[in-house]
Amino acid sequence: MTNTIQPTVVLAGGGHAHALFLKRLQKKQTPPAHFILVSASRYTPYSGMLPGVISGQYTAEQSHIDLELLAHESKCTFLKATVSGVDTKANELIFLNGDRLQYDILSINTGSTQARVIDAKDSITIKPIRPFLSWLVQPLPEHIKQNESFILAIMGAGAAGVEVAMALHQRFKHLHSLEIHIVTAQGILKGYPPKVQKMAKEEIERKPIKIHTHFRVTGVKDKTLISDQNDHLPYDSLILATSAAPARWPSESSLATSPDGFIQVNLMLQSVSHDNVFACGDVAEFTHSRQAKSGVYAVRQAPTLFQNICNMLEKKTLKPYRPQSQFLSLLSCADGRAIASKGCFSTRGRLIWLWKDWIDQRFMAQFPVPATDSMEFNGSD
Ligand SMILES: Cc1cc2nc3c(=O)[nH]c(=O)nc-3n(C[C@H](O)[C@H](O)[C@H](O)COP(=O)(O)OP(=O)(O)OC[C@H]3O[C@@H](n4cnc5c(N)ncnc54)[C@H](O)[C@@H]3O)c2cc1C
Repeated sequence: MTNTIQPTVVLAGGGHAHALFLKRLQKKQTPPAHFILVSASRYTPYSGMLPGVISGQYTAEQSHIDLELLAHESKCTFLKATVSGVDTKANELIFLNGDRLQYDILSINTGSTQARVIDAKDSITIKPIRPFLSWLVQPLPEHIKQNESFILAIMGAGAAGVEVAMALHQRFKHLHSLEIHIVTAQGILKGYPPKVQKMAKEEIERKPIKIHTHFRVTGVKDKTLISDQNDHLPYDSLILATSAAPARWPSESSLATSPDGFIQVNLMLQSVSHDNVFACGDVAEFTHSRQAKSGVYAVRQAPTLFQNICNMLEKKTLKPYRPQSQFLSLLSCADGRAIASKGCFSTRGRLIWLWKDWIDQRFMAQFPVPATDSMEFNGSD
């Protein structure tokens, strides 16, 4: 440990697990330590409500946690900075501006972004969410307003791609010349039960949104997606909802990472290469199994992370995280309906949307949110 009176615990990134960690700091006694939350931005999004922000069901403020206020309420120092590396020899976090911050224990919960599988410079990824929301409220091109055809292509048909497509349809349904197309190398909602895939397909086709299955994009030229079968799809705007990808800095640091670049952890959520480094949520990957990149896991990991950091401060044995084999998935259809699934159970309808809305609002009610109209993303076209 460093020579300070109290050990320093640095929480890098304000993801779901760290937000819940801070709530625990308010409620539970911890061993003496100085807690510092580092986040690239003051506000962090709750992704469960993002489709609702796109469709206009929620404001941006309702779906974001005010991390600075939360840290203040948790007696934790808040530092607005972007992490760009870890010097594990010196036990220092490195920031984009070159500054460094020393830690005794480091926890990383910086999430993921979307894989840029093609070189389409004019495309936008859904994550990080703030640039996506800024893109969304840009003025629409004149020719859509004049009822000339406009194609919005979404690459990727996992939960994010499917929910965002339906939410965009809801937002722009008054623009009759706007066509929304989903492009996927396989089918939709890979990994979900066939019944859920069928329900989602029906909901998408009701909108109507066009789905191009088995369209494996291998290239892009002149605003046209080209498949391995040489099919072509011209587009005016392209959104990447491709699979989760890590930032580059973890693999460029000396932390052990998976071949994809996610931080490898054991069941204690501890880096397999550095005992005093923890990682959780999308940025982490277990060495023994691969979990879906889903906010549910980041939420479930928070109690174990909190317990293990306290245990490490007290030099006690760490406890393993016990992953759930199944979890509840609630997909918004953006029209006041939603699809629920858990294991082999699935259903859909308006009551499911009300249930999802209740769960999401209850989750957010724990946290301080930005003041009304303090974010710039609420405008529509
Ligand atoms: C449209 C959409 C809908 C989704 N819906 C759901 C859903 O309904 N349920 C579900 O379980 N999952 C959902 N997901 C998946 C979910 O978004 C992620 O799995 C989840 O956000 C991961 O949480 P996390 O805690 O790991 O990190 P995040 O929630 O991504 O948070 C990471 C935080 O770290 C900060 N950060 C990032 N990089 C740095 C850096 N270098 N320095 C400092 N700070 C940094 C970010 O600003 C952010 O505050 C959805 C995803 C999308 C795109």
